[in-house]
Amino acid sequence: GRKQIINFGAGPAKLPLPVLLQAQKELLDYKGLGISVLEMSHRSSDFIKIVNTTENDLRELLNIPENYKVIFLQGGGTGQFSAVPLNLIGLKEERSADYVVTGSWSAKAAIEAAKYGKVNIVHPKLDAYITIPNPSSWNLNPNASYVYCCANETLHGVEFPFVPDTKGTVLVCDMSSCFLSKPVDVSKFGLIFAGAQKNIGCAGVTVVIIREDLLGFALKECPIVFDYKVQESSNSLYNTPSTYSIYIMGLVLQWIKKCGGAQVMEQNSIAKSKLIYNVIDGSNGFYVSLPASIYRSRMNIPFRIGNANGDSILETEFLDKAAKHNMISLKGHRSVGGIRASLYNAVTVEEAQKLAEFMIDFMKEHH
Ligand code: PMP
Repeated sequence: GRKQIINFGAGPAKLPLPVLLQAQKELLDYKGLGISVLEMSHRSSDFIKIVNTTENDLRELLNIPENYKVIFLQGGGTGQFSAVPLNLIGLKEERSADYVVTGSWSAKAAIEAAKYGKVNIVHPKLDAYITIPNPSSWNLNPNASYVYCCANETLHGVEFPFVPDTKGTVLVCDMSSCFLSKPVDVSKFGLIFAGAQKNIGCAGVTVVIIREDLLGFALKECPIVFDYKVQESSNSLYNTPSTYSIYIMGLVLQWIKKCGGAQVMEQNSIAKSKLIYNVIDGSNGFYVSLPASIYRSRMNIPFRIGNANGDSILETEFLDKAAKHNMISLKGHRSVGGIRASLYNAVTVEEAQKLAEFMIDFMKEHH
């Protein structure tokens, strides 16, 4: 047993209890081998079995087509938005890429890509990250090597409710904070990446799903550990991978399968986020959510208390009181402030319900 905490952290985030219990059970002695996964060679048949099972479970959960490769890498989401231009900007001679910038993660990715090629932001710069510019207005470059977007902006709480049509250009998507929270038609993407530490595991491993014909275009400056072709052809084992993080991800994927898969994760995420947005929308302006309602994230719900800029006294009191109710990690990202509730796969509907009730009580005390 441990203290009953509800963790609304944005990542690293809550893990399902059955996963932690299994990891605990297997920590000292993995399947009778007398060693821990932490102590296991990444070249051993036992570890290779873990990698292969994890990949197969992921393929099953997302229905990943045969012509897509799955790679497990280190370096986090940030490593990947650097690796993407290093591997793909050379797809076309012009070395140019189109970026959709709907929040701070896609903004950072665009800055990183500009180190390696030309970057075209396909829409006028947004004054505030609360919307997604209409794709029909995007100024797509037909000679771009790829179009990049972030499916869910973790800080600003803006989520794509659709897969954009890129007019045939390869689509690259950062799904770090919404990965496996709903079914995805992988065939619409050239490349998808996601850090594990939000919806599918702990920090240390990032999943890359790439269409196989996009392999082999890395710039000569690309660090070998980030060269997708090299890593893919060695089954993500060119060098020592983040072995324990891959093992934990494998346990989380098994848990998601047991729960019923991506569809069930989606139903739950809709139910959880509705509970919170309903309180916000029914609060007569006491709680303020900034994103346009159709682009509101199911995963990360940033909001202000008192007014659109946030009343700092009320927000501090909210966080203190929430902590007394054992609800933690509700503080908004340091760059935007306010409150943020993250509702990743491991967070239950009951936990979201408790937060909704707490928000109603807090409002009644202050309104
Ligand atoms: N992309 C998104 C959407 C994220 O939420 C994050 C992390 N919060 C990152 C990229 C960066 O991930 P990392 O910290 O693993 O580099």
